Amino acid sequence: MPTNTAALDNFWMPFTANRQFKAAPRLLAEAEGMYYRSDDGRRILDGTAGLWCVNAGHGRREIAEAVGEQLRTLDYAPTFQMGHPIAFRFAERLGEIAPAGLDRIFFTNSGSESVDTALKIAVAYQRAIGQGTRTRFIGRERGYHGVGFGGISVGGLVNNRRVFPTLTGVDHLRHTHDPARNAFSPDLPEHGADLADDLERLVGLHGAETIAAVIVEPMAGSTGVLLPPKGYLERLREIATRHGILLIFDEVITGFGRLGTPFATEKFGVRPDIVTTAKAITNGAVPMGAVFCSRDVHDALMQGPESAIELFHGYTYSGHPVACAAGMATLDIYAREGLLTRAAELEAYWKEAVFSLRDLPAITDIRAIGLVAGIELASREGAPGSRAYDVFTDCFQRGLLIRVTGDIIALSPPLIVEKAEIDTMVEMLRETITAAA
Ligand code: PLP
Repeated sequence: MPTNTAALDNFWMPFTANRQFKAAPRLLAEAEGMYYRSDDGRRILDGTAGLWCVNAGHGRREIAEAVGEQLRTLDYAPTFQMGHPIAFRFAERLGEIAPAGLDRIFFTNSGSESVDTALKIAVAYQRAIGQGTRTRFIGRERGYHGVGFGGISVGGLVNNRRVFPTLTGVDHLRHTHDPARNAFSPDLPEHGADLADDLERLVGLHGAETIAAVIVEPMAGSTGVLLPPKGYLERLREIATRHGILLIFDEVITGFGRLGTPFATEKFGVRPDIVTTAKAITNGAVPMGAVFCSRDVHDALMQGPESAIELFHGYTYSGHPVACAAGMATLDIYAREGLLTRAAELEAYWKEAVFSLRDLPAITDIRAIGLVAGIELASREGAPGSRAYDVFTDCFQRGLLIRVTGDIIALSPPLIVEKAEIDTMVEMLRETITAAA
């Protein structure tokens, strides 16, 4: 049954053109497997895993049952000076699949909270090792790290920053997006490793002794699927280490199998000191995030009198039992169905399918890795973003959910996707992009 549009007024929607949306709403009422069902009864192929989070596909019974059972057993209990078994068990399970050595886990409720938590841990760590002057953060242009004041400060998106105050003592590396040299790279971009030297430049400008951490997305998702140039992350790691700066990877999108390895850290062979996650940690079913810290970082804070609270930080819902139950069931599915590495098996097929669009008139670049793709369209004169938005609405009408940012289309289907569904997605894009050319 279509919803009565007059009933849409109360919900102030996030990151949405509210008035435009409410004049022509797109409502998703049900979901199962690879498909949503709209409230007017149409099947819509999920090309975005919801919002990069439903990696095991929709409507997983095991998760629903685990959540129901947990609600009946222990609905809520605090984790401040208290504990409950499932939070410890879930942290242990996460520790087993964590990037090597990053198995000390702080629970949050979202990606934004994970980022702000990681930044605070970085400063607390530096202070604990006698480097109390290190309070500065380095982010990157075109980085997206959520919407907390910490996240928008290290983030590099003008629209997220221009209206709001940001932290002082934050500087930014230049972004790595360089279509003039790297367009249609079949693999990681060849050019741009030297952009990591920006960190060296910022050390020269501010002094290493003022910098606590540098934070980047190993692959920037929300700002348009920007892949790291070959050698870039390695160089960043090397410079950060040399200057005693912690390296934080924001893996809110790349964590839990999106690139074909459990974490991007393994895909790129670079080990950061802290990894932020959220989204697919519970398959999107219950809000949760987790910050994975190295033992060095964690252990440095476990000093001083044992009665002292080592980190004055935490959330009412850190380690929420229901989220932990959803997370445990999610990890069971990931393990049983091999989903944390499935993107690697499909990567070649995925790339070939997506790159088959390259000769369409309006396309200026295609980027793909794991089960992610970015398709960049030429902007219309005086109307940036309008072409991709047309493709988005047209796809939705025809039965495909995609995501757009500016004139870039981002695809990130659930990791259960089959080849036939990839074909459907690409054919629908071929028609809609052609129609918007
Ligand atoms: N960090 C990255 C890399 C993200 O992509 C996102 C969300 O897309 C966030 C942080 C923020 O996560 P949340 O919306 O759960 O706060």
